[in-house]
Amino acid sequence: MSAQATAAGAHPVINPADGSEIGRVNWSTPADVDAAVKKAAAEFKSWGRTPVKERVQVLFRFKQILEDNIQELAELCTAENGKTLGESKAGILKGIEVVEYATSLPQLLPGGYLEVSRGVSCRMVRDPLGVAAGITPFNFPVMVPLWMIPLALGCGNTLVLKPSEIVPLSAIRLREHLLEAGLPADAFQLVHGAREVVESLADHPDIQALSFVGSSRVAELVYNRGGANGKRVLALGGAKNHLVLLPDADPELAAQNITASYTGCAGQRCMAASVLIAVGEVQPMLDRVAELSRQIEPGVTMGPIITPKALERIRSYIDTAEEQGADVVVDGRAAGQPSGCEGGNWIGATILDNVTPDMTVACDEIFGPVLSVIRVDTLEQAIEIENGNPYGNAAAVYTRNGALAKECAERFAASMIGINIGVPVPREPLSFGGRGSSRFGYGDITGAGAVEFWTQARKITERWGEPPDGGWKF
Ligand code: NAD
Repeated sequence: MSAQATAAGAHPVINPADGSEIGRVNWSTPADVDAAVKKAAAEFKSWGRTPVKERVQVLFRFKQILEDNIQELAELCTAENGKTLGESKAGILKGIEVVEYATSLPQLLPGGYLEVSRGVSCRMVRDPLGVAAGITPFNFPVMVPLWMIPLALGCGNTLVLKPSEIVPLSAIRLREHLLEAGLPADAFQLVHGAREVVESLADHPDIQALSFVGSSRVAELVYNRGGANGKRVLALGGAKNHLVLLPDADPELAAQNITASYTGCAGQRCMAASVLIAVGEVQPMLDRVAELSRQIEPGVTMGPIITPKALERIRSYIDTAEEQGADVVVDGRAAGQPSGCEGGNWIGATILDNVTPDMTVACDEIFGPVLSVIRVDTLEQAIEIENGNPYGNAAAVYTRNGALAKECAERFAASMIGINIGVPVPREPLSFGGRGSSRFGYGDITGAGAVEFWTQARKITERWGEPPDGGWKF
């Protein structure tokens, strides 16, 4: 297959809701990757020198096309990923915000100018890097590619994207929309496949930068391999997000928000709540979270798990927690499959209570709709547990006390903090990115940090001397 993927090929794309095949994609060979990079490199000579005000005209049109086609794109996203239609739309809208931000690059890119000494001036411009590669996970088939595409291209790079092999169809549609918006065809290449394709990208000498989003294990591999090959790499990894529930929290707000945080996208998002640290006497709120969780209906208000293997992994985490002494307060293993979805990967919302910090479910990223409740007596203990986990993506506190909220916001180890918000995703122009083993590399994936990532500074210092007596004569 050529690097320009078509929805026909050897590898089936499966709808996780019912196990049906919804498309096929051929995986790229190392020769396909090389051809894609060469085309992107040839196009860079022209796209990289196109004025930014012209480049963003493509993004203005792209934004409009995405908005006009959001229903169809959301249906495609839901078909290959399984999340509910509302969740697909929300993800696309978040991605569109990044496109919108990138349309303002003419205002963001200009560097500084200063007369640094008499008759000598220095100006700074931001150059693109060249050919870049993006590698994305399964859980946001549209949004995560849209974290990369508009800023990489808007800054003047050309981009080779390898979407998750589990959800390649949305990325194919995004490319069609970009071409419709007037992007030169070779500026955005798609390659398909898994590990071998990623390794080809990380090793390719003509790729200057790698932007990766996925699990921490792979993020670290990609960071090390790309870095060893001299590339600029930002690799966002997995997460283990802690919510701290204090007794003075607004009970209904907290219960609704906690439930939404751990069950949204069936828990398959890097910002999902995973551990709830219950401080002091909060039993009525925990009871309400359990009540709301039992109302969540797989197939109606919650989508399936991405693959049978992932479902098996989640179930075994619950089994292990039970064996280790946790109480299964709400048991999603009993949920069964919605009618007509017998071939799908279904589990219900699950709450494990009396989890201790050393249990496997308290330490590992589960990536499913499972909430582990750890009980402590003091806020200090809660902060210590949050600080003790190696990830650093998100953390939140539920309280009506401003001083306690401030204390948590300043002392949590994670970099994206919620106060009465369980999925604290920063919105443009504020940038998205974690810390610790949730991020390898420097910078953020959206916002101002991303503009830095996708560009390199050039400083031009100039002196032109004095005009001769009597002025210039030719
Ligand atoms: P994954 O790490 O399995 O895959 C991510 C990408 O890496 C895919 O394109 C895949 O094909 C490729 N890949 C897989 N194994 C590889 C290997 N051995 N070598 C090279 N490339 C490889 O992740 P996933 O299961 O698709 O996505 C879920 C993970 O992504 C979770 O850990 C989640 O927390 C994380 N995630 C993080 C963020 C964030 O912003 N930090 C956002 C979304 C998802």
